[in-house]
Amino acid sequence: MHIVVQKYGGTSVGSTERILNVAKRIIAKKNSGHQIVVVVSAMGKTTDELVKLAYAINPAPSKRELDRLLSTGEQISISLLSMALQSLGYDAISFTGPQVGIRTSGRHTKSRIAGIDTTKILESLNAEKIVIIAGFQGVNENDDVTTLGRGGSDTSAVALACVLDAPCEIYTDVEGIYGVDPRLYSKAKKLDAVSYEEMLEMASLGAGVMHPRAIELASKYETPIWVASSEFELPGTIIKKGEKSMEGQSITGVAIDNDEIMITIRDIPFDTNITSQFFSQFATKSINIDMISQSAPIDGLINISFTAPASDLDDAKKILTTFHEKHPGIGVIIDENISKLSVVGIGMRSQSGVAAKFFQLLADNNIQMLMITTSEIRISCIIPSVDKDIAVTATAEAFEL
Ligand code: ASP
Ligand code: MG
Repeated sequence: MHIVVQKYGGTSVGSTERILNVAKRIIAKKNSGHQIVVVVSAMGKTTDELVKLAYAINPAPSKRELDRLLSTGEQISISLLSMALQSLGYDAISFTGPQVGIRTSGRHTKSRIAGIDTTKILESLNAEKIVIIAGFQGVNENDDVTTLGRGGSDTSAVALACVLDAPCEIYTDVEGIYGVDPRLYSKAKKLDAVSYEEMLEMASLGAGVMHPRAIELASKYETPIWVASSEFELPGTIIKKGEKSMEGQSITGVAIDNDEIMITIRDIPFDTNITSQFFSQFATKSINIDMISQSAPIDGLINISFTAPASDLDDAKKILTTFHEKHPGIGVIIDENISKLSVVGIGMRSQSGVAAKFFQLLADNNIQMLMITTSEIRISCIIPSVDKDIAVTATAEAFEL
């Protein structure tokens, strides 16, 4: 008998009615001859509410206690789902992450899965039980409960699928993966298939459908992931290994990130030590620098532009003030009204002219490109935020997304 790992998100288990509905779907899968492991998220907005509670008691709650608290959301949904299955006459058993041997490492609230002991899961499956496991949590080397970062239940499900050598089915409130966010472009088409590489780029660019760690893991183990609606019987999207563009297109998706700022510094003395010391201060503050471009030196001076998360603006300003005091000749411009527009597609590897087409469509719409970076399967461009809607629509139309 084949094992299948299914994951249901917060909306899908948001009420007792919905939990019963999920239970019926699980039963249908079981009756089609599968052994089922189910991972669930906390009901609806439970995790957000728990976070609020914590901050209402203490403006700087300890991360250990936060993990302890946040992990309880999933414990509610696993037991209710197990009860729902039992009420329908099926044998089910729920486990927390620690109970089922999901070991984690790293910092509280952002830990990673270090290993999973499958003994208990396999025993229960062999005893004909439907196994329900709390997503988003595990236990670290100090026997403390830790969580995997917001949205981490996807990672729990994929990690379990990897160690059980099973496919992973992620059920959610959307019909699958879209090349462009349907909230931004109403004619967006659902993708039938997408490669790990493309999905990883899109998830890291803020496309928001899946936890990037989940894709990383699936890619490492070549575990196929299905993303589909928990409400309809539609086929959804498969995320799998792919060398060629699956739908013959040059571009698979477009993403827009509105949470970055762009900083430009003019007339920096041309000296690699100065540049490296400047950026190491950002590293010390754990500020994630994204795009960087440097001009060729003219008269011993260079200009540098880079982007950073908008949430780090205050820290960035402090670093810039100190840098200005040291090098009074420089000029600093901070632009908060920028967006990062990216197109992603493995089709770019084999098709030429993608960048030209992308830049032309921006030019046709009078959209300025303030900075450009590329990888083998991605082109990203900083544009003024005012143009973001036009840019997404024009790109989606031109590349038929
Ligand atoms: N309940 C957690 C969250 O809201 C984990 C998850 O849903 O994936 O972030
Ligand atoms: Mg999620």
